[in-house]
Amino acid sequence: MDDFTRIKEQLVLTGENRLMIGPVAMILMPAWFFSGIMKRVVQEAGYDRAAKIYYEAGFDGAYRWGKVQIEAGLTGRQIMEQYLGAMTHRGWGRFEIIRFDDTAGSGLFRLYHSAVALENAPADRPACLWVPGALAGAMQVIMDHAERRTRVIAQERRCLAQAADCCEFVVEPAPAASCS
Ligand SMILES: [Zn+2]
Repeated sequence: MDDFTRIKEQLVLTGENRLMIGPVAMILMPAWFFSGIMKRVVQEAGYDRAAKIYYEAGFDGAYRWGKVQIEAGLTGRQIMEQYLGAMTHRGWGRFEIIRFDDTAGSGLFRLYHSAVALENAPADRPACLWVPGALAGAMQVIMDHAERRTRVIAQERRCLAQAADCCEFVVEPAPAASCS
């Protein structure tokens, strides 16, 4: 996984004040700002709709990030390791791959000290709304690059904000669409 020093070395502030990591424009922000936006979306849209919004945004973001890594020459598990390493060293918490199978499109992941969970605790539902979609998006770009047809989905099974020791996420193949 990428370490913190490597990420710092990659960061470049351009003459137009764009903060770049390679070809990707970044924004450095307080965790409370991201979490504050999330809380307001939950308040205004309701938990389920907010979860869908953050799932899809997380999915798209991770998928795009994965494509950049593919262009840099990474494949398969390397892409997931690079992505979770980068997120780990950007302040989201420490990700760990417990199980990873990019043939089946399944995996088990843990996130320790989730910044979003810490900002939202205590909560009665999982708080890391952006993460399941992000893990699904990262797995999906790996699957698509390998030309596997499986679609994957993800969910947070337990969350630090609900007094669990850490957050845990499952990625698995989506149920086949019904034709009825
Ligand atoms: Zn969580």
